[in-house]
Amino acid sequence: MAQNSPSVLRMLCRGLIRRCAHCGEPGAFFISWFKTQDHCRGCKLLWQRNTQGFVLGALAINFVLTGGALIMTLVVGVVTSYPDLAIFKLLVSTIGVTLFVGVLGYPISYTTWLAVDLIMRPIESGEIANSPIK
Ligand SMILES: [Zn+2]
Repeated sequence: MAQNSPSVLRMLCRGLIRRCAHCGEPGAFFISWFKTQDHCRGCKLLWQRNTQGFVLGALAINFVLTGGALIMTLVVGVVTSYPDLAIFKLLVSTIGVTLFVGVLGYPISYTTWLAVDLIMRPIESGEIANSPIK
């Protein structure tokens, strides 16, 4: 039952900026950077719609983002320092970028995955916390 669902592009954009893909509430599911609550503050959408596999999708997005950043850092480092490769600088910069993107991207990957999940499986009755229809 998709009622007043936003467009696909809007849901993806909301997810990429750490908002609820359904209602657009900023930081809707987060108490802190790493700690989540079970529903959105704005629309009461339950956070983990499908308890089996939801976290795996979010982790896959974070893995792809972090791996992409690592590869880009490595390629830029090799290209700019070739032929005298600065191995220590490359190592430090790739580790730094990997940690930075992995930690920074953690909540963004969750809200982005929620957007993808909402696109694939629109909201059904009973997915809104405290909704009268269960
Ligand atoms: Zn919401």
